[in-house]
Amino acid sequence: MELLYEGKSKRIYGVNEREVFVEFKDDVTAFDGKKKASPEGKGKATAEISSLLFEYLSSKGIPTHYIGKGEGGFYAKKVRILPVEVVVRNVATGSIVKRLGLEKGKELTPPLVEYFYKSDELGDPLVCADHIVYFKWATEEELKKMKELSLRATELLKDVFASAGLKLVDIKYEFGYDPDGNLVLADEISPDTCRIWDENGRSLDKDVFRKDLGDIVEAYGEVLRRLRDVLGTPLKSRT
Ligand code: 5GP
Repeated sequence: MELLYEGKSKRIYGVNEREVFVEFKDDVTAFDGKKKASPEGKGKATAEISSLLFEYLSSKGIPTHYIGKGEGGFYAKKVRILPVEVVVRNVATGSIVKRLGLEKGKELTPPLVEYFYKSDELGDPLVCADHIVYFKWATEEELKKMKELSLRATELLKDVFASAGLKLVDIKYEFGYDPDGNLVLADEISPDTCRIWDENGRSLDKDVFRKDLGDIVEAYGEVLRRLRDVLGTPLKSRT
């Protein structure tokens, strides 16, 4: 397969005109790439968790780029990603706490949706809906659809995590157009892109690495083990 793109935590290979293979690396970065590590087993865990969660969301009618699981990653539809990150927050923590002076751990009911402009150079700044439409990063209609899908996906995932004794604190989504012109949920869904707390408020996500809270592979392994108990093993392979 031809390497099309290499990012901080993934490699994207072309399979054919319409499909890619998303391979997860062990690399983990934080603070705009200033903090880096490569813990063995992290890529495999994020690949498995992403596959499980995409497969679950697809089964519940959320359009996604996911096709099927492979070795160390998954097959997906080739997408043109829109430069907007949608973050849904169920609990206040992370950047919003600093930005708005909220109390960490405050429940956000109903969930709060925020948008960020995807730009490494600018450090993914917070933007509002008007910026997105004005600068044509997405149309009003696309934005409405992304918001609706993000809220629906979060509701579904929140319940899955709750069944696994875990709390989905916040989560980041990316969307793109597949070769048939459908707007689909893309990128990955893993502890790299969301925050997850256990019954005791222990972080089992990338904050473990960001804040030096312990062994990230062990934390992701715990999430995977618990999700497998609830959802089973992702078995749908590309055929
Ligand atoms: P915050 O805005 O509090 O830093 O992040 C909110 C949520 O979105 C967290 O779960 C965080 O992991 C995720 N998130 C936001 N931006 C990015 C990003 O550029 N990359 C990754 N991997 N996750 C992000």
